[in-house]
Amino acid sequence: MKKIVVAGAGGFIGGHLVKELRKKDQQVRAVDIKPLKEWYQVFPDVDNHVLDLRLKDNCYTAVNGYNEVYNLAADMGGMGFIENNKAACMISVLINTHLLMATRDCGLERFFYASSACVYNGEKQTDTENPGLKESDAYPALAEDGYGWEKLFSERMCRHFTEDYDLITRVARFHNVYGPHGTYDGGREKAPAAICRKVIDAELNGKKEIIIWGDGHQTRSFMYIDDCMKGIQDIMYSEINEPINLGSSEMVSINQLVDIVEEIAGYKMRRKYDLNAPKGVRGRNSENTLIKKYLGWEPSIPLKKGMKKTYEWIKEEMVAGTGDKPGTNRYNK
Ligand code: NAD
Repeated sequence: MKKIVVAGAGGFIGGHLVKELRKKDQQVRAVDIKPLKEWYQVFPDVDNHVLDLRLKDNCYTAVNGYNEVYNLAADMGGMGFIENNKAACMISVLINTHLLMATRDCGLERFFYASSACVYNGEKQTDTENPGLKESDAYPALAEDGYGWEKLFSERMCRHFTEDYDLITRVARFHNVYGPHGTYDGGREKAPAAICRKVIDAELNGKKEIIIWGDGHQTRSFMYIDDCMKGIQDIMYSEINEPINLGSSEMVSINQLVDIVEEIAGYKMRRKYDLNAPKGVRGRNSENTLIKKYLGWEPSIPLKKGMKKTYEWIKEEMVAGTGDKPGTNRYNK
C-alpha cells in the first residue's frame, strides 16, 4: 500500500483523485487551503488537512512520512479568472516550489505536477483550425501571460529536480477538464460548466437568450474527468520523463459546445455574442501522438456523453439550491 498526498484535494480534479485512490485502498492524505465545508468532495476516512501550501513549513507537514505527491493545487479558474488575476496565478509557483523541496527533503519517491495547455506558444493558436498542439510547441516560449508562464516555469523546476536530485517527477499538460463536482459559477468556472449553468438557468426561468463569450467560432477540446483520472495515474507510473499532453483531440467550436448542451436540455435560445469578454486563444487542440506512443491510449470519452453527465449534475445542484458547499448552494445565494 502506498501513502499518497493529494494537494488541492478540495478542488475539482483533486476531489476525484482522492475518490479513485480510496477505491484502490491507498492511504491518502488530502490537503487544501479551503475550509473543509467548501471542498467539492470530502471523504471522512482519509487524512484531511487544511493548509496553505504556499508556505514552506506547511508543505513539509503535508508530505512528511508519505511516498508520493500529486500536486493539483493552484489558484486558478477559467479565462475570466486567469486574464484578470495574473499575479495571483503566478503566486502558485510557491506551492509547487515548496512541495518539490519538501518532497526531496522528506525522501518521497514520486511527484506529479498538473501543468496546462496554457504553456503553449500563443502564436501557434491563432487559427480556429488548430492541427493539435504537440509537446514541442511550448518552445520557443510564449505562454499564456501569468497562469501559463507559471506552469511552464514549474514544469522546468520539476525537470531540474529530476536532473539534479534524482527525484522522479511526472508532468501532464491538461487540456480543459470537465465533469461533475467542479466549479460552475462564481467566476472561476470554465466553458463547459458555464454553458451548462446558463442553459439550465434559462430553462428554469424561461429565458430566451444566452450570452456567449467571443464570436463562438473559437475552438477547444474538452476531456471528461474519468479520462483525466486514468491519464494522471498511468502517467504517474509510466517512464515518461517529459511533459506530456493529457487532453481530448475531439476539437469543437464554442458554438458546437452550446449546440450539444441545448440538445441535452431540449431547450434552444437566441445567441448573443459578447465580443469584449475574455476569449483566450483562437484555436486549441491536443495532439496525442506522444501519449499514444507511451501508453497505447488517449482520452476518448465522447464530449456528448461527458457533457450529459456534467449537465445532469449541475442541474441537480441548481434545482436543489440548498446545502453549505460550493457547488451545492452558491447558485441561489
Ligand atoms: P480547482 O480550482 O477546482 O482546484 C484547485 C484547488 O487548489 C482548490 O481547491 C484550491 O482551494 C486549492 N488551492 C489553491 N491555493 C492553494 C494553496 N495555497 N494551498 C493549498 N491548496 C490551494 O482546479 P482544478 O480544475 O481541480 O485544477 C487542478 C490542477 O489542474 C490545477 O493545477 C490546474 O491549474 C490544473 N489544470 C486544470 C485544468 C482544468 O481544465 N480543470 C486545465 C489545465 C490545468
